[in-house]
Amino acid sequence: MISPDTLISSLPRVAPAYQKRLFKLGLKTVRDLLFHFPRRYDDFSKITRIRDLRAGAVYTIQGRVIDIKNSRSWKKRLSITEAFIQDESGSIRAIWFNQPYLTNVLKIDTIINLSGKVNLDKDLYFSNPAYERIANSEGQIAENQKTTDYKPLATSQTRHTGRLVPVYPETAGLSSRYLRYLIQPHLASARELVDWLPDSVKRSQRLINLADAIYQVHFPDSLKNANSARQRLAFEEIFLIQLFALTQKLRRIKEQAWSIEFNKDLIRGFLEKLPFKLTTAQKKAAWEIFLDMAKDQPMNRLLEGDVGSGKTVVAALAALEAAQAGYQTAFMAPTEILAGQHFKTLTGLLSDYPLNVCLLTGTGGKEFRNGRFFDSGKKLLLAKIENGEEQIIVGTHALIQKQVNFKKLALAVVDEQHRFGVKQRAALQKNINRLPDGSVQKIPHLLSMTATPIPRSLALTIYGDLDLSLIDEMPRDRQTIITRLVPPLKRAAAYDFIRRQVAGGRQVFVVCPRIEPAEENAEQLLPPQNEIKAVKAEHEKLSRKIFPELKVALLHGKLKPPEKEQVMADFAAGRTDILVATSVIEVGIDIPNAAIMMIEGADRFGLAQLHQLRGRVGRGRHQSYCLLFTDSGSAQTQNRLKIMTACASGFKLAEYDLQWRGPGQFFGTNQSGLPDLPLASLIDLILIKQARREAAKILQADPELKNYPLLKEKLKKFRDEIHLE
Ligand code: ADP
Ligand code: MG
Repeated sequence: MISPDTLISSLPRVAPAYQKRLFKLGLKTVRDLLFHFPRRYDDFSKITRIRDLRAGAVYTIQGRVIDIKNSRSWKKRLSITEAFIQDESGSIRAIWFNQPYLTNVLKIDTIINLSGKVNLDKDLYFSNPAYERIANSEGQIAENQKTTDYKPLATSQTRHTGRLVPVYPETAGLSSRYLRYLIQPHLASARELVDWLPDSVKRSQRLINLADAIYQVHFPDSLKNANSARQRLAFEEIFLIQLFALTQKLRRIKEQAWSIEFNKDLIRGFLEKLPFKLTTAQKKAAWEIFLDMAKDQPMNRLLEGDVGSGKTVVAALAALEAAQAGYQTAFMAPTEILAGQHFKTLTGLLSDYPLNVCLLTGTGGKEFRNGRFFDSGKKLLLAKIENGEEQIIVGTHALIQKQVNFKKLALAVVDEQHRFGVKQRAALQKNINRLPDGSVQKIPHLLSMTATPIPRSLALTIYGDLDLSLIDEMPRDRQTIITRLVPPLKRAAAYDFIRRQVAGGRQVFVVCPRIEPAEENAEQLLPPQNEIKAVKAEHEKLSRKIFPELKVALLHGKLKPPEKEQVMADFAAGRTDILVATSVIEVGIDIPNAAIMMIEGADRFGLAQLHQLRGRVGRGRHQSYCLLFTDSGSAQTQNRLKIMTACASGFKLAEYDLQWRGPGQFFGTNQSGLPDLPLASLIDLILIKQARREAAKILQADPELKNYPLLKEKLKKFRDEIHLE
C-alpha cells in the first residue's frame, strides 16, 4: 500500500537514474512528490475538432493514428517522426524531432490526444505536440487512463493533454511529462496526509481541504480550482511561519535581560565629536534601540539599511551605552576581513573612551587599550573576556565557540546577519552568561544588522519575531555610482577605461562569477573550488595579458587568513591597483580610493547581491563606476541587468529579485534558515497579515496549543527542521 511516507526508491518503475535526480531536488518520499508543485499550467482542456483548427493557436485534438513513420533530415542530422491523426471531421499532420521511439508508442490505430500549437506551412500541422495515448490499437484503455480510486472534482483522467496540464519547474533530466507520470498515480495518497490547519482557520479564510488542494494544484479542473488550491497551500506555509515567530516572541518576553538606561550626556558627547551628522533615519534607529535596551526583556531587533547607510555607527552607539553601564558587547561578523574592519572602525570611533576593545577570530586575537593595539594570544584574550576586562569583543564565528565565556554580556550585535544560520544567531544569545552551575543568567539584547535590503513584507514573514528598524536614507554626501552593462564588443574599451582610471590614481575591484557546478558533477566539484579556479584564471589573464603594467592582486576564500590580510592591507594602502576576488568581498569592506567595480558573469548574481558589490565603490570622493559583464544574450537576462543601471535603491532591487528568483535564490542556500516555500509569495502582504492574524488568534486563546494537537506536532517539526540547519 502506498502512503505519503513511501520512499520513491521503493515505487515500481522509477529507474535509479531518475531516483538520483529526484533525490537531488530533495524528493525522497511520495509526500515530497505531492508537495512538489507545478509552476504553471498549459491549458489543453478543450478538445477541438480537427476541421476547426486554425494556424497560430494552441489546441488539443483527439483522434486515431492513421500513419506514422521516421525519417532523417539530411541537412541537420535530425530524426523526424511524422504522423497523421484523424477524427470524424478530418485529419492533420504532426511532427516530432529526435524522438524516433514514438513509432513504437503511437502505433497505427492508437487513439491519442495531441496538445500544442498548430502551425501553417503548406498545410496545417502540429510541431512537437504533447501526446497521450487514450486507447491502444485493440481499443484497450491505456494504463494511465485507468481511474485511480480517488475521484475528486477532476473530470478528466488524462495527464498530458485534454486538460489543464501542470508544468513543473525546469530541472535537467526531469521533464514535466515525467513528473506528471510519476505524480498522478499517487495523488490518492493525499487523503492520508495530516491536515493540520485548524478547521476554524480554514473556515474563516475559506480554504479548501488539503487532499483537494493537492489534487487540484497538480491536476486542476479549472484555473479557479487551481487558484483555490494555491491559496490554501500558500496560506499554510505562511501561517506556520507566523505561528512559529509568534511563539518565539512569547518565549522571549519571558526572558530576562539587563536593562541599560539611556545615557543622554554620553550619547550627546559622542555625537558632538563625530565628523558627520547622523541622518534622521540613523537617529530614529538608534533611538528605537536605546528604548529596547532600557527594558529588562531582551531586545530582538533587525537593523536594516542599504550598503553604506551607516549601520556601524548606530551599533557603536549601542555598544558604547552598554560598555559605559558596565557590560560587555559581542560584535559578530561573518568574515575575518569584516571583523577586522569593524575592530578598526570601533576602536577609531571609541578611542576617546576608556574602553577595552578586542578582536577574536579563528586565528588569534588583538587588543586595543589606551589608544594602542596589541597582538594577544587567544588564551590570554579568552581569560580577559571571562573576567570582564574586555568590554567590546569583535569577532567572527569564533565568538560562539564553547571556550568563549562572557562575564556580563548585555548586547550582541550580529552584522550581515543573513550570513549566519539561525542556530549560530541563537547561539550568541544563548549559552552565554552562564553561572558556574550551568544555568543561564541573563539573555543579551540582540541587534541584528543586514545590508540585504529585505522588503518590509518579507522581513515580517521570515523574521516575524523581530522588531524592525529601517535606515532608508543615505548620508547626504553620497554620490551616484554610474552603472553600465558592457556589451562584449566594448570589452576592450572598458579595459582602456580602467587603465585610464588607474593612471589617475584610482583602484579597481574585479569580481568573478559564482560558478554553478555542472549538473552531472555536482557532487565532486564543490562550488568553492570551482570558483577559486575561475578567479585564479581571471587573475592570470588580467595580470599577464590585459594589464601587465599594473599590479593585480588576488583574493579568495581559500587563502590563509594572514595572506588575506596582507592582500587587503596592500590594496587598502594603494600598493596594488586591481583586486581580483570572489564574492567574498561582497560584505562590508571599505576602500575609499576604489572607484571601479567590474563584475564578470553578472547574470549569476542576484540584483541585491550586485547592489552590494557595487556598494564597495563610491565610498570616497571620486566618481565611481560599476561595469557589468555577461555572456548571456538572453533578453530576459539583459533586461534584468539593465535594471541595475537605472536603479540605485537596494530595496527596490531586492523586490525585483524576489519576484524573479524567489526567496531561496534571494538568500543563497539555506541562509534564511527557512525551508523552501514553494508557493507562498513572500511579498503578498495581505496573505501574510491574514496568516499572522489567524496565528495570533489561536495563540491568544490557547498559547500551549492544547486544543490543537496536530498543529502542535507540526510546529514542533518545523522548529526542529530549522534547528537542524
Ligand atoms: P553600512 O551600513 O553599509 O555598514 P557603514 O556603517 O560601513 O555602512 O558606513 C559607511 C560609511 O559611511 C562609513 O565610512 C561611515 O563612517 C560613514 N557614515 C556613516 N554615517 C554617516 C553619516 N550620517 N554621514 C556621513 N557619513 C556617514
Ligand atoms: Mg556594514
